Amino acid sequence: MSARPLDGRRAVVTGGGRGIGAAVARVLAGAGAAVVVAARTEPEIDDTATRLRSEGLDVHAAPCDVTDAAEVERLAASANERLGGVDILVNGAGIAFSAPLRKTTLAEWERVFAVNVTGTFLCTRAFLPPMVERGWGRVVNIASVAGLAGAKYISAYAASKHAVVGFTRSVAEEAATGGVTVNAICPGYVDTPMTVDSIARIAESSGRSLEEARAAILATSPQRRLIQPEEVARTVAWLCEEEARGVNGQVIVIDGGGLRA
Ligand code: NDP
Repeated sequence: MSARPLDGRRAVVTGGGRGIGAAVARVLAGAGAAVVVAARTEPEIDDTATRLRSEGLDVHAAPCDVTDAAEVERLAASANERLGGVDILVNGAGIAFSAPLRKTTLAEWERVFAVNVTGTFLCTRAFLPPMVERGWGRVVNIASVAGLAGAKYISAYAASKHAVVGFTRSVAEEAATGGVTVNAICPGYVDTPMTVDSIARIAESSGRSLEEARAAILATSPQRRLIQPEEVARTVAWLCEEEARGVNGQVIVIDGGGLRA
């Protein structure tokens, strides 16, 4: 097996400024891919790209708000220009949201859908067709265990991630004529800034300490731990390898065994 199985591949990772997306960028680039990381906060994506380039990896930054169709088109143009084409799209941009249904405003509901669902749709629509034309490509959507199961206070987030799972399964069949696959990964709680925020939100809304809120989150995992971003990233990288070409339209759960359907 090659140490650089993604040599010559060209990837765009949305949400690549921090958390799971930044880990995905590092692992894909370490496997040989040239990578463009995209998100809204320019200093953060610039930092990630600079740090990874200092490790000898081929990573560049491109600002993009994935909810904006024109910005996604500009991202596609700049990534194509820099990389000469895009073989791999990782839809990692996403936001969390929790509130009881009766306190969820229409604006909050629409914002969650705009980033998690419309962003995934716009980026996939921009990058997938040329992959299908060339006969090789990979799209990996970072959904969530909330894309497969519901829980109280996360109706908007869970609905958005269920949508990502349905989108993945549908587009996978449309794209399946050549060497193109479309899959989703459904992690449980991952050790990222998003989970730090979630712990703070739980503490604030429940009157518990940060330690108690963290313990409540860990208690959702049979392994009593947060998933590390690299665990998600390595699964993404494997899906992008040639040997995973038969895996299409699938959902891979990485949650330490909490969800076992
Ligand atoms: P982080 O908050 O750590 O990072 C999210 C990334 O998405 C940032 O780079 C952020 O950059 C980017 N992003 C957010 N909104 C937009 C937007 N409108 N346009 C472009 N980029 C955007 O989250 P994680 O790394 O933890 O999460 C990544 C994905 O994994 C999300 O889809 C999340 O739902 C999912 N996930 C996370 C889990 C967890 O426990 N952390 C568990 C299961 C799934 P910026 O704000 O600068 O735009």
